[in-house]
Amino acid sequence: MAKQIPDPTRDTPLEAVIGLEVHVQLRTNTKLFCGCENRFGASPNELTCPVCLGLPGSLPVINRQAVEYAVRAGLACGCTIDTGTKWDRKNYYYPDLPKNYQISQYDRPLCAGGTVEIRTGDEVRLIRLTRIHLEEDAGKNVHSEEFPESWVDLNRTGVPLMEIVSEPDIRTPEEAGAYLRMLRLIMLYLDVSDCNMEEGSLRCDVNVSIRPRGSEEFETRCEIKNLNSFSNVENALVYEIKRQTQLRNSGGQVTQETRLFDPDRGETRSMRGKEAAHDYRYLPDPDLRSLKLSPDWVEEERASLPELPIPRLERFRTTLGLSDYHADVLVRDPSIASFLDECLRLGGDPQEVANWLVNSLREEMNARDADAFGVGLTPQRLVELVAAIADGKVSKQKARDVFRALLESDDGVDAVIDRLGFGQISDDSILRQAVQEVIQEQSNAVSDVREGKEKSINFLLGQVMRKTKGAANPGLVRELLLDTINKG
Ligand code: ADP
Ligand code: MG
Ligand code: ZN
Repeated sequence: MAKQIPDPTRDTPLEAVIGLEVHVQLRTNTKLFCGCENRFGASPNELTCPVCLGLPGSLPVINRQAVEYAVRAGLACGCTIDTGTKWDRKNYYYPDLPKNYQISQYDRPLCAGGTVEIRTGDEVRLIRLTRIHLEEDAGKNVHSEEFPESWVDLNRTGVPLMEIVSEPDIRTPEEAGAYLRMLRLIMLYLDVSDCNMEEGSLRCDVNVSIRPRGSEEFETRCEIKNLNSFSNVENALVYEIKRQTQLRNSGGQVTQETRLFDPDRGETRSMRGKEAAHDYRYLPDPDLRSLKLSPDWVEEERASLPELPIPRLERFRTTLGLSDYHADVLVRDPSIASFLDECLRLGGDPQEVANWLVNSLREEMNARDADAFGVGLTPQRLVELVAAIADGKVSKQKARDVFRALLESDDGVDAVIDRLGFGQISDDSILRQAVQEVIQEQSNAVSDVREGKEKSINFLLGQVMRKTKGAANPGLVRELLLDTINKG
């Protein structure tokens, strides 16, 4: 069951207006403007060079892969790509920013417009995007708990960052969570980011204001910075909407400011007044020329986009006939969805394969902290297992154990069934003998069946299964029983 996320404005005359600024670190090999490795977890300042350290005389060179990833992200969201985009310096002073400016994009973002489709309950909505631009990440200030000292780690400085800005189209904390989840899923499908919120490769600022329901005006908003989990985004919004509502209802006014969320106390508190664009003295970066993209190249990128989450969801539901629940669970993890597709390519039955993925494979993935392809089962072997059940080689109950054994070795399905001694008896002579014995032992039940008491056939079937220690093929046994009784 999905957790219910409260909507503080529900059934009230007010509504919330929410816009998200999402930062996505691109998983390029190297940084945005230098050849330093783009990697999480190195020792402090290991991954630096004169360019990302901002040493005088060093010059930036654009990373083609970063541009490609951002273009793909933009195309996947239906944005218009600016083929004459440019770079600007955003000036501010902070220890984690050695140049005292960040290379970003101001008036010619790489991507503009576009939408992200979200689904909450039965409702489907399109959230419009304002823009997606590329910029370099800043470093990290590290504050010591032991000493009155702070350090700076510049490994992250210059890592390519995509900023995805939404229009203020979001109305509830639940929608904000759904939007962020869908955005993350799209980026995972495109494989442009690992979107690991704990490691900071997906970060989110939320902007929120409240207004009378149905109003077209925008009122004063607050920005809550650096939310690093879905639940923090949702909880911070719930708190902030309540706070602004109470303020408003008691005759107060919301002041435009930047706030921080404290997850332990579930509260937001004021951090600083909001800076305006002019505070940053944006100026075109004289070290970088405007970036010209070939429209043909952009079209090639568009043509090579993978199937995205929503079309895949529709296909799983309509073409494959899977339930909403199954389709949703499968699509939410790109590796499981691909695993299913691979099984289908090998001729697996969609519903049977989906059941195994949803009911069993996911559990193993969680237990092993692995993706669908990393638990030790190949699509081929799962398809074989499904076929073995359909052919009566193994019972559904025993198949669970076969599944688990498959993960522990590379043996084929037949070999595992043999090794575990789970082979279903489909051999007529053995079954006939067991059936004969049961018919002799249970003459009462046999008469009942003859008199039309259908339930008694199940009793007899149970007796045969017991004699064969569960290894008989139940369908075959039922046939044999009916055959023998009706003849006798
Ligand atoms: P900035 O760059 O100063 O943070 P922007 O105008 O780019 O400001 O907007 C940032 C985000 O704030 C966008 O996602 C936008 O949708 C959202 N936003 C703008 N106005 C409001 C408002 N009145 N209430 C809620 N969100 C808003
Ligand atoms: Mg902002
Ligand atoms: Zn560098």
